[in-house]
Amino acid sequence: MKIMKFGGTSVGNPDRMRSIIPLINGDEKVIVVLSALSGTTNSLVEISDLLYAGNTGEASRKNEALRAKYYKVVEDLYSSAEYKKKGHELINSHFDYINGFINHTFGKQHEKAILAQGELISTALFHNLLSENQIPSVLLPALNFMRIDKEGEPDSFYIEENFKRELALHPDEKIIITQGFICRNAYGEIDNLKRGGSDYTASLLGAAVNASEIEIWTDINGFHNNDPRFVEKTTVIRELSFDEAAELAYFGAKILHPSSVNPAREKNIPVRLKNTMDPADEGTLITSNFILRDYKAVAAKDGISVLRIKSARMLMAYGFLRKVFEIFEAYKTPIDMITTSEVAVSITIDNPAYIEQIAHDLRELGTVEIEQNQTIICIVGDFRTERTGSAPEIFEALNTIPLKMISYGGSPYSISLLIDTKDKIEALNLLNKFLFNL
Ligand code: ASP
Ligand code: MG
Repeated sequence: MKIMKFGGTSVGNPDRMRSIIPLINGDEKVIVVLSALSGTTNSLVEISDLLYAGNTGEASRKNEALRAKYYKVVEDLYSSAEYKKKGHELINSHFDYINGFINHTFGKQHEKAILAQGELISTALFHNLLSENQIPSVLLPALNFMRIDKEGEPDSFYIEENFKRELALHPDEKIIITQGFICRNAYGEIDNLKRGGSDYTASLLGAAVNASEIEIWTDINGFHNNDPRFVEKTTVIRELSFDEAAELAYFGAKILHPSSVNPAREKNIPVRLKNTMDPADEGTLITSNFILRDYKAVAAKDGISVLRIKSARMLMAYGFLRKVFEIFEAYKTPIDMITTSEVAVSITIDNPAYIEQIAHDLRELGTVEIEQNQTIICIVGDFRTERTGSAPEIFEALNTIPLKMISYGGSPYSISLLIDTKDKIEALNLLNKFLFNL
């Protein structure tokens, strides 16, 4: 049994949806996890934002525009009058449901219910498409088995128990369809695994059933050695280890949700990234194997803030860093990078929601400087501690760019650097030239 997850662009229009049928209709039993059609979740976020702001007129207009867009999808997707009619009814039921939130007080719960509509629609449309083509499949509602706990973390035990129970009801069915992204929370309410979370659904389900492989189908041939949005010449990396993939995903490679590596790694299930537009291409395979190379890939993560804390009290003191970390913990703010000297520590965060409060509390310990609009550049390669001579090319390449922090030695397979976001494109291009000769 394998998992096949198709992202928003892979189901983004009727042609794309039709083109995934031959991919899933093979000999092996498959669990097909679908995202919402591309752009839909963004539109649902916009509708929710308008409702928060009390702008019901505009929210209603956006909702109707989205409904009209889906009418067109339905018209093109199905060939028979019967299925077109079914499609229209389906679309109406979801957009009428969203309409029901207009003119009422609006809160987080309602927003989550609205955001769930994208995946509910895409999976139902696809399930009907298979039926119209006489391909048997079942649609299992993710809300019956995907669950997060009070901390917002997936409840793997619950997911495994309940997903297996649902699966057992359909032992002979070869194609199982379900929604990515959506789940219930500890209180049984509709919730989600955060933006881009369909990948996470795929790997959680893969781990739950011990799948032979977790395939993530997107619109690009896999992980690239550099960011194709900013660098002209990039190449596909054919094999990555779980650790390398997690590092790249976390530090900006948009292709994979960073949390989705963990469940696969824990059960040692290979993850394969594939391109729906080029299914013959082997894509990128992520396993526990390490194939060491001096430099493998570069990724960049924007929106970083750095806090620099200076304190004479740090000199030869113990327990100082604990106090610093406790402040970040109190505001549930994860730390990305950290560098220390004897009297100063620099810390980066990517969630600035509580930065003022954090800085305020840190001032009890010393002076605090904040700098925003920073970017972390992560370079994945062979930086094992016993190696000599690793990394000179990095510093040669970035000779003209101010490096604000360097993190070396935290991981044997990556180095992270902090630079100003305005220098990012230049830095990525220079690294491409110096590290990959591209
Ligand atoms: N549709 C959701 C989003 O756009 C989840 C996903 O596509 O992974 O974030
Ligand atoms: Mg995605």
